[in-house]
Amino acid sequence: MILVGPDHPIQEKISCAKGLFEAYGKDLLSHREIKTLLGRYAKAIEETWAVMRDTGVVDVCTQCAIEDGGSCCGNGIEDKFDVALLLINLLLGEHLPEAPWDDSGCWFLGPKGCTIKARHTICVNYLCKRLTETLPRENIHKLQAAIVAETDLGFLLEERIKGYLKRCSIQKTSP
Ligand code: SF4
Repeated sequence: MILVGPDHPIQEKISCAKGLFEAYGKDLLSHREIKTLLGRYAKAIEETWAVMRDTGVVDVCTQCAIEDGGSCCGNGIEDKFDVALLLINLLLGEHLPEAPWDDSGCWFLGPKGCTIKARHTICVNYLCKRLTETLPRENIHKLQAAIVAETDLGFLLEERIKGYLKRCSIQKTSP
């Protein structure tokens, strides 16, 4: 069912995700297991952000962006996204932009940082040298535990959604 592959341009992937959301969004949101996983995933994302605030990551990143002009969200990272992850964002109520806010940055980067909830594992996992050198080891461990919980749930959810869409496509093509 997902006809647009990982190497297609992000515009095509977004358009495919929107088409799937229109066709299957309602069913996916009422599917018991997927609905439960979506709720758990959204909570895990919130938890990661809470840990990022509590452990000082947000402060370090804000300082880097404002004072040193740094940003980890470079142009091209959006190409790592597949249609299923984009569809998950739509299921979580997120808006997928039709054009990037800043041509030199990731498609999903906005004036105040990332604009989507379900980020790629690369985005969630990445801890730069400044962070690893600034934060106490204990905080890094707390952060890593939250990251693993979020990315594991994201992976499981993607798999369930892909399975669901595959079954729908088989049913449609069956005589
Ligand atoms: S965190 Fe968001 S804006 Fe940054 S690279 Fe990842 S998806 Fe793009």
